[in-house]
Amino acid sequence: MASCTISSPFDSLIFDLDDTLYSSKSGIGQALKQNVQDFLVEKCGFAESEAPNVNRELFRTYGSSLAGLRALGYNINPDDYHSFVHGRLPYDLIRPDPRLRRLLQSINQRKIIFTNSDRIHADKALDRLGIRDCFEKIICFETMNPNLWKSNRPDEFPVVLKPSIEAMKIGVDVAEVDPRRTLFFDDNVKNVAAGKIFGLRTVLVGSAIKSKEADYALEILTNMAQVIPEIWVINEEINANDSDKKRISHALTEIDSLISATSVGA
Ligand SMILES: [Mg+2]
Repeated sequence: MASCTISSPFDSLIFDLDDTLYSSKSGIGQALKQNVQDFLVEKCGFAESEAPNVNRELFRTYGSSLAGLRALGYNINPDDYHSFVHGRLPYDLIRPDPRLRRLLQSINQRKIIFTNSDRIHADKALDRLGIRDCFEKIICFETMNPNLWKSNRPDEFPVVLKPSIEAMKIGVDVAEVDPRRTLFFDDNVKNVAAGKIFGLRTVLVGSAIKSKEADYALEILTNMAQVIPEIWVINEEINANDSDKKRISHALTEIDSLISATSVGA
């Protein structure tokens, strides 16, 4: 009987952090917004009534308030900024997620974090979720912006963040992945579109509906096993008349029981 080998089309998974691995709707997002507005008032001299609008405009035009402020000539040390806006976040609002941990542990492929946030925030959030050791590498603000600390002129080196082409190039290079065999998970439609330009297989998180450049959409990350079961297909010789569907549905049942067994009482 003829046989063939089937294997997962993916050998690496790259994950955004905020609003992808946890929902910032728990209060973290609101606290972050307030901290940025307080920074604009206390450190940059904006009026309190202006701060929400300034924040929105900087984010819309430059991708982040820090990027915008530096582009406009404010000489803000990124470490000072991050310790102000992230350092005082109520991290206990991020709850341990054993279900997500089991899911990540069931995936044999390389797993990498790619976030616009700074290293300290990434470490804290991943520690709170209880999943830091699930990732081989964290690509973060500092990875994309090594030159910011070398210059006293804020406009000399623009802040590099997803979804810029430069940021995506750094992400793919540092991750050392073959984009065509890599799943890229992000909650931001623009980041997903940028990932697509780089040939990544894209997953829009937090939405049941795919954006134009998304190959998959996951309303909740832990639906991964239902929506992308091919992640779990391991190299295996099968008879040609066995259907992939049967194999995959078997793998899916196993993953389902693995994850739900550990979620009781979590
Ligand atoms: Mg995000």
